[in-house]
Amino acid sequence: AEVFRTRRLTKVYDTGKVKVMALRGVDLDLYESEMSVLLGPSGSGKSTLLNILGGLDRPTSGEVWFRDINLATLSDRELTRYRRDKVGFVFQFYNLVASLSARENVALVTDIAANPMPPEEALRLVGLEHRMDHFPAELSGGEQQRVAIARAIAKRPEVLLCDEPTGALDSKTGVQVLSVLDRINAELGTTTVVITHNAAIRLMAHRVIRFHDGQIAAVEVNEARLPPE
Ligand code: ADP
Ligand code: ADP
Repeated sequence: AEVFRTRRLTKVYDTGKVKVMALRGVDLDLYESEMSVLLGPSGSGKSTLLNILGGLDRPTSGEVWFRDINLATLSDRELTRYRRDKVGFVFQFYNLVASLSARENVALVTDIAANPMPPEEALRLVGLEHRMDHFPAELSGGEQQRVAIARAIAKRPEVLLCDEPTGALDSKTGVQVLSVLDRINAELGTTTVVITHNAAIRLMAHRVIRFHDGQIAAVEVNEARLPPE
């Protein structure tokens, strides 16, 4: 089943002086339990699309469906609730609280979620069961990103949206972080969308979506990786 469906989606940033057409009519379907990667040059619209799917931003025109809800029609309050209940975000920078341990950073989220997993379980899923009481400054960049991933999945979101999660990491560490996303996708079945320039994603992703100039230039399906119906 489709989790996301966009039709004729456009986004225009109007900064007063200039208008930037970041998305120019995007029709995209993303399916349950798949991991998709968004590829394309800088400025081609990948982050803009991810932000709209996650309810961080709104389209200028067109439809953006999450299951049977058109996000474009939600009130601000409903969109905030959607983001909080359904979506996990991972960004390039980890935004961990320096004075809290890994476990406590994850607990910040699980304390307020409706149906969370224990912080320990989330940290186990990212391979950090031996680092739960460490503080961010005592962890490597890759480990800090894995704490951020644990925090994102601990509320059991339906979708996990990752904007350049490997952007601040060397390529080998980046592969480890992508492997963690791959494992979460396999173990929890979380529908995942990733923006990354790390080539290892091509072996993991079910669907490769290539952007060019605010439009989808190509979609490749990795048949060998498709989950069973
Ligand atoms: P990337 O190319 O790695 O996706 P950018 O540096 O283009 O990242 O953009 C990072 C963020 O900065 C965007 O998500 C957006 O919110 C903001 N941004 C990008 N371009 C502009 C701009 N021209 N004016 C204002 N904000 C921008
Ligand atoms: P990508 O993620 O592929 O690098 P983005 O979605 O970040 O692309 O950006 C698409 C276009 O929109 C770029 O030209 C960028 O400068 C512009 N842009 C992104 N965010 C903003 C913003 N907040 N204000 C103005 N322009 C923006």
